[in-house]
Amino acid sequence: MIIGGIEAGGTKMVCAIGNEKGEIHKRFTIPTESPEVTIPALIRFFENESIEALGIGCFGPIDLDISSPTYGSITSSPKLAWRNFNIVKAFQDALKIPIGFDTDVNGAALGEAVWGAGKDCESVIYITIGTGVGVGVCINGLPLHGLVHPEAGHILVTRHQQDTYEGFCPYHDNCLEGLAAGPAIEGRWRQKGHELSERDEVWELEAFYIAQAVTNYILTLSPNKIVLWGGVMHQPQLFPAVREKVLQNLGGYIRHEDIMKDIDNYIIPPILGEDPGILGAIRLGYLALEKTL
Ligand code: ADP
Ligand code: ZN
Repeated sequence: MIIGGIEAGGTKMVCAIGNEKGEIHKRFTIPTESPEVTIPALIRFFENESIEALGIGCFGPIDLDISSPTYGSITSSPKLAWRNFNIVKAFQDALKIPIGFDTDVNGAALGEAVWGAGKDCESVIYITIGTGVGVGVCINGLPLHGLVHPEAGHILVTRHQQDTYEGFCPYHDNCLEGLAAGPAIEGRWRQKGHELSERDEVWELEAFYIAQAVTNYILTLSPNKIVLWGGVMHQPQLFPAVREKVLQNLGGYIRHEDIMKDIDNYIIPPILGEDPGILGAIRLGYLALEKTL
């Protein structure tokens, strides 16, 4: 099978041609401009590749309700040119093939669940700490939906007593994204994250917030694997700090040996390197095709 994938991001569109085994044959990336500019360029690329299905892991929020008249749209995105744009319909009308669609982070969770960290696992979560915080959840090989889709980057956390930074989320005073994503680091310390590597207090506070959220995800979703990534997690000292604080927060309540004895293999960076999102998109395409067979 030949399947296309798009990891649709706010700054760039990462595209690939692959197959049902998770092998990628060709890649293509273009900047995200307006839909009028970007979508025709993407369609031209995929038209030349005789793909049987296309999967899209998309920045959001997005409408994933199949029964909704606006299924396939980007909804309240801060990227105004894309707000209410129906990306699924655009590709369906042009390519006339099955289109799989989900959030970018659900796509990444799916990629890791099928071909990476979470092979043979029931419950896998993928957390990206970058410009924002996104959390994807994959249960039994399928992305988790519900009323909308998980938005666990906005989970509320307890503020550190010494933290006077007000947070940057316009919706919440003390959510993880507002206090711990890249712009929060920059807002609090007046320098970009990558310039602060040597400042221990920066990463101590960062780990304090991330570990609270991860603890809550463990208690809620009982994940078999937790994949943590995004620009901020390129600070390698964060991994041991987060693991240590998660163990403290759990207080010995969840006694599974994967946590108690092997947390270094439980909270991990992606196994698929930079590819969980694009491979997840290809899997979304495969799942859409499978439904039609
Ligand atoms: P996006 O979330 O937009 O897809 P990234 O995951 O690359 O993009 O995250 C970008 C954010 O991560 C920025 O706020 C940036 O300052 C921060 N960041 C990037 N690299 C590092 C690093 N090495 N250390 C700390 N923060 C970083
Ligand atoms: Zn928030």
